Amino acid sequence: MKRPETRLLSLKTLAVISIIAINAAFGAAVLSQTKEERAPFPPPKMEPSIVTPGRTDSASPSDAIVLFDGKDLSKWRSAREGGGEAKWQVREGYMQVQPGTGDIATREEFGDCQLHIEWATPAEVKGEGQGRGNSGVFLMERYEVQVLDSYNNKTYYHGQAGAVYKQYAPIVNASRGPGEWQSYDIIFKAPRFDEQGKVIERARMTVLHNGVLIQNNVEIYGNTWHDEPALYIAHGPKASIKLQDHGDLLRYRNIWIRPL
Ligand code: MG
Repeated sequence: MKRPETRLLSLKTLAVISIIAINAAFGAAVLSQTKEERAPFPPPKMEPSIVTPGRTDSASPSDAIVLFDGKDLSKWRSAREGGGEAKWQVREGYMQVQPGTGDIATREEFGDCQLHIEWATPAEVKGEGQGRGNSGVFLMERYEVQVLDSYNNKTYYHGQAGAVYKQYAPIVNASRGPGEWQSYDIIFKAPRFDEQGKVIERARMTVLHNGVLIQNNVEIYGNTWHDEPALYIAHGPKASIKLQDHGDLLRYRNIWIRPL
């Protein structure tokens, strides 16, 4: 009788000691980061370069590449295979989708970036759901921030304006009305792939719609297709910004980008 009792006690004692030890070890791990894990001290010398901001928060700062200044489409090409000229219309200070001519894409390619773009859906409201004022801003020609007239226009939640299409609904619906100018400010981090084409770091996106945060550093799951689940297909570190011809008379203006 005596022997099993002693054994039971010792097992219980052992368990308690183990829990204390695990807690202590865990606590110690949290408190004592290795030297490599801690911020360098003193911090490395890095003099931030001087950037002159635009006269307004929507005007391009001095280090931005202006992709469209309201005058011509020289920075754009057709996104169709074979490229060619972008065939959208340029009017007073804006470009407008020319339905049937296809998507357009920047001639220059970008990876990590900050993008400012302004858009307006048609003042004359036609259609509903995805059929009302549909277009899109595609980062790297693959990852779409939806453009849609989402003012009093119900559609699936991850398909409305400001959604990372079919992946993330916007946090809020900050839409202005049809025909009004709206803006997106997008901070994008490109995905990273290893040599075998496996994604080792997913893309990330932060989006402000009319100055309101609607996507907060979300992790993108891959290409934003409408009829298939997202999937990464390996690509280079840079690709074009693409704007979608979805058949609606969307307008765009004041587009600039800061490669990061
Ligand atoms: Mg779209």
